[in-house]
Amino acid sequence: MTEVEIREQLKHWCDNLGLDNWSFKIELVHADDVENDAFSEIYINVEKCEATVYLARHRSNKQQVSSIVHELVHIVLHPMWLLVKSTDIADRFARAEEKAVKQLTNALYN
Ligand SMILES: [Zn+2]
Repeated sequence: MTEVEIREQLKHWCDNLGLDNWSFKIELVHADDVENDAFSEIYINVEKCEATVYLARHRSNKQQVSSIVHELVHIVLHPMWLLVKSTDIADRFARAEEKAVKQLTNALYN
C-alpha cells in the first residue's frame, strides 16, 4: 500500500475501534526489522495518545491491513498493562495479550 492508503486504513480502523483521538507516526521498515508473525510493531505513548507503528513494507495489502488492526488492538488492550507492570506476571501477561490480539484481529479483519 502507499502511505496514503495506509493512512486511510489507519483512520478507518481507528474509527471502528474508538481510537480516533490518537495520532500516529508510520515507519515503513524492512521485514527483518519486525521479526514477529504480525510483521509490525508499535510504540505507545498513552499520556499523549500517540503511537509509532513500524510496518513491514513489501507485504501484501491484506497482510499490511492485518498488521494495522493487530497493532491498534494492542492499543485497545494496553490499559490492562497498568495492572501488571512491575510484577512477576508480566511475561505471562504479554503472551496472553499477544494471543488475544491475534484472535481479535482475526475476528475483526481476516
Ligand atoms: Zn502483537
